[in-house]
Amino acid sequence: MTDLPKLSILDYDFEALQAFLVKNGYPKYKAQTILQWIYKRSTFTFEEMSDLSKKDRTALEDVFSTISLKQDRVQTSEDGTLKFLFTAEDGVKIETVMIPNEDDSRYTICVSSQVGCALRCSFCATGLLGFKRDLSRSEIISQVLLVDAYLKTTYKLDPHDRAIDNIVFMGMGEPFLNFDAVIGSIEVLNDQKCFDIGTRRITVSTAGVIDGIQRLSYARGQIRLAISLHAANHEKRKTLMPIARKENTKDMLDAVRYYQEKTGRRITIEYILIEGFNNLEEDVLALKHGLHNIKYNLNVIPLNPVSSLPYDAPSKNCINDFTARLKRHSIPHVLRVSKGRDIDAACGQLALKNQTT
Ligand code: SAH
Repeated sequence: MTDLPKLSILDYDFEALQAFLVKNGYPKYKAQTILQWIYKRSTFTFEEMSDLSKKDRTALEDVFSTISLKQDRVQTSEDGTLKFLFTAEDGVKIETVMIPNEDDSRYTICVSSQVGCALRCSFCATGLLGFKRDLSRSEIISQVLLVDAYLKTTYKLDPHDRAIDNIVFMGMGEPFLNFDAVIGSIEVLNDQKCFDIGTRRITVSTAGVIDGIQRLSYARGQIRLAISLHAANHEKRKTLMPIARKENTKDMLDAVRYYQEKTGRRITIEYILIEGFNNLEEDVLALKHGLHNIKYNLNVIPLNPVSSLPYDAPSKNCINDFTARLKRHSIPHVLRVSKGRDIDAACGQLALKNQTT
């Protein structure tokens, strides 16, 4: 073999792998065999793919890599949330969070799309890291496969069945600033011969990148959209989220209307509650007005404090008053209790803190 870097087999969906194999003199049916090993049996080395000939295994090994992350450590929260620390081939580190669903039988994975983040929202720990680089499609898929394999082994689940039931792009980074890798990873994960997870079970969350919202309107499948709004009043929003200086809030919400027209899908609006900042009657009225004509559910997320950032968690009274206001204005909402706070795994807390490796 040459010194060229290997191709990642995770970049290939079923059709693409079939085409590759046929072009290179292999029988077509081997694509299914290989993908089954990787996606259904969590087997990540060709050496272990025992129903392929020794010759095929060696040849594949020469051309392809599989998982492109190394799992460094897993932290467990008292509420069952897990936080994974992964290292990429160039040494950069990322975090991925696994949250058990209410009934504990299935799991949601919160994946990262970038190393660090360029957006520097004033309440978010990831922004403090600055932006390092985009993650590749195979690095995004690797997070899902490694966490799924870990869950199956640790909780002794059926090895042939997915443990992960929902994927949310709410880890580190802004998914729409890495659009192609994010959508590419979703296409492979969705493929029936690969991870076979429905696009309706996948949510992409954005701080409000208009171009990305527009592009998602045309993407295949039923990928869900979540918008980190946090304030419907543009002036207020600008003080929290520098991106709003460039991507006007009204234009951004018009792009959301466009997405909804095209797809008919209800969206999620995320609203971090910050006491004394966005919990007042005027804020609720701004929401009602700004989200006019949009079908949405509002997720109210009491702010998770981040050390070195100047915000505290809202009081119980503040939360109760705010949700009562929403109710009075008939705004559909859910109060989200953040999980994994004791291990810095909650929303906005991913900052690669205290990592020793
Ligand atoms: N960049 C994308 C994806 C990150 S998702 C986005 O902004 O949507 C992470 C979610 O956690 C976002 O809704 C973000 O606003 C929220 N978040 C960030 N810091 C937080 C904090 N300190 N407390 C609660 N939620 C926070």
